[in-house]
Amino acid sequence: MATIESILHETRVFSPSAEFAKRANISGMAAYQALCDEAKSDYAGFWGRLARDHINWHKPFTRVLDESNAPFYKWFDDGELNVSWNCLDRHLATQGDKTAIIFESDEGEITHCSYRELHEQVCQFANGLKSLGVKQGDRVVIYMPMRIEAVIAMQACARIGAIHSVVFGGFSAKSVHERIVDAGASVVITADEQTRGGKHHALKATVDEAMSMGNTDLVRAVVVYRHTGTDIGWQPGRDKWWHELVEGQASECEPVWVNAEHPLFTLYTSGSTGKPKGVQHATAGYLLGVMTSMHWIFDYQPDDIFWCTADVGWITGHSYVTYGPLAMGATQVIFEGVPTYPDAGRFWKIVQDHKVTTFYTAPTAIRSLMKLGPDLPQQYDLSSLRLLGSVGEPINPEAWMWYYTEVGQSRCPVVDTWWQTETGCHMIAPAPGAVPLKPGSCTLPLPGIDAAVVDEAGHEVEPGYGGFLVIKRPFPSQLRTLWNDPERFKRAYFPHDIGGGRYYLAGDSAHCDKDGYFWIMGRADDVLNVSGHRLGTMEIESALVAHPYVTEAAVVGRPHEVKGETIVAFVVLKNKLPQGDQVAEITATLRDWVAKEIGPIARPEEIRFGENLPKTRSGKIMRRLLRALAKGEEITQDTSTLENPAILEQLKQPAP
Ligand code: ATP
Ligand code: MG
Repeated sequence: MATIESILHETRVFSPSAEFAKRANISGMAAYQALCDEAKSDYAGFWGRLARDHINWHKPFTRVLDESNAPFYKWFDDGELNVSWNCLDRHLATQGDKTAIIFESDEGEITHCSYRELHEQVCQFANGLKSLGVKQGDRVVIYMPMRIEAVIAMQACARIGAIHSVVFGGFSAKSVHERIVDAGASVVITADEQTRGGKHHALKATVDEAMSMGNTDLVRAVVVYRHTGTDIGWQPGRDKWWHELVEGQASECEPVWVNAEHPLFTLYTSGSTGKPKGVQHATAGYLLGVMTSMHWIFDYQPDDIFWCTADVGWITGHSYVTYGPLAMGATQVIFEGVPTYPDAGRFWKIVQDHKVTTFYTAPTAIRSLMKLGPDLPQQYDLSSLRLLGSVGEPINPEAWMWYYTEVGQSRCPVVDTWWQTETGCHMIAPAPGAVPLKPGSCTLPLPGIDAAVVDEAGHEVEPGYGGFLVIKRPFPSQLRTLWNDPERFKRAYFPHDIGGGRYYLAGDSAHCDKDGYFWIMGRADDVLNVSGHRLGTMEIESALVAHPYVTEAAVVGRPHEVKGETIVAFVVLKNKLPQGDQVAEITATLRDWVAKEIGPIARPEEIRFGENLPKTRSGKIMRRLLRALAKGEEITQDTSTLENPAILEQLKQPAP
């Protein structure tokens, strides 16, 4: 089988400082190796031990893993627990007054919420939901601004065993409608409006529009949190104010103890490679995954101020805002706004003001802040930071270096965390007190995660060659199925030809180097085939981004009679769009640069310049749309999660 060639050679290595390593939860490579060995020698024993160490069980489990109906795996399935109880109640006796959430609004208003206060508000809201008749197993759609109330709504659902389906606040009425219908939701929770970057965006009006699109009869109530106070439409009987719903509700709410396998939530993927998939997660395995990764990869310490910038509309916000930090008893920052408002120093100001220790964001934000304010981090006091993280896309080595040196002042490890909506938590990422870092590599799998790179027949490929990224053994936090679509679940993630239907197929291409480090090369769907050479997108894009002119780049293949495919690159420059002769000049410079950096085979045939690239609303480049543009095709694909449709027009024009 044709493997994928690796052509970019990154040789920089950064080891953790002795000081960092000494205090870390996984301190040194021997400690990391010991955990991996423990998993290898007794897989069920390993996960069983962790599940007992991290989770408080209402009824202990006696079985760890049930593989009898593979790939519908079950974990800890005779145990009972409640996630909200694990996130809130168990901290009350020891640290009820500790700040759980430091909330900063778009306009900079700050609210502190202690564990006791959060517990009280979650209980009251859960009682409110019960008064609407919501019970275990019912589905609740949440369409909220990035505020404390979004977390309260999710935690309240978990408390009473209702299954939430969060829809990102930037999505349209059509997406909201699809989610409501697909879930068979009985309640929708929303707000009048959300505010981001100084602008107001309607939420309730969008829900009203979604509700008018038909098949929404199951929805008994729309709960509305008053945020901006703007006038909104109101349907008496159906619509309820949040503040009226919680008024007079008891501040205690006995959690519903659910089975370990009870669905905690469903959530749609970002839609980078096609129509979003409705991923369903179970209670205990998911909770265990977010806790072990908080402990190992974010190296959680009780005095941390943790800040994950993701919206709760994405899996990152579920795992590392709503559930992970609270389950650990952490203090975390939640920010309503955007990184560039009022200016590109906003993130750094928040880090300074709240003394953030652990900062987790996406490459798209890093690249744009690097472009808009390369020197801005120096103007703030970032000395509180001790750990940086990245998620969502491969981080180009040059962006990694800027993040490491300018933001982390060469002091803070950068954890590049590879994972997916489907995996629930980090899968491949460095334990920062142990694993030496290489810019652009997500490094080594978490203990217990049996990741590998295989060819089309499921055989492991040699170091240095790329192939399909798989996880060979089931792991607790993996998706249980696709909502209402078990057949697609099997087909998409456990195809028979790769590993006999037993390997979890991630859909990404990757290679391992001789040290066993993983390098994500792009989406498996996006692999290029140039004159018989199979190339991933990541390395060519990283070579482009390494040129001082370039901020962002995406490459795709265009069918070619002789070569199979040629490479078309879409490039965003640091300066404004090139004009006239500049176009040909910069194009020639960049083509030569790529040829010199990684070889003539990777030289783009055509380069198009734009002010941006088409991205999902979670900030990922949508190469499938660029592929259509490169071929000169009209776009007929699912674009429901596209953030900036206008950019397609700009990128449509072939280079002169
Ligand atoms: P869809 O599955 O609908 O196409 P999506 O894959 O973008 O959407 P997510 O689950 O949000 O939806 O994203 C997971 C994907 O993001 C991974 O499969 C991978 O391609 C990419 N990714 C996430 N983190 C990293 C990382 N640290 N390095 C490289 N790629 C990453
Ligand atoms: Mg995906």
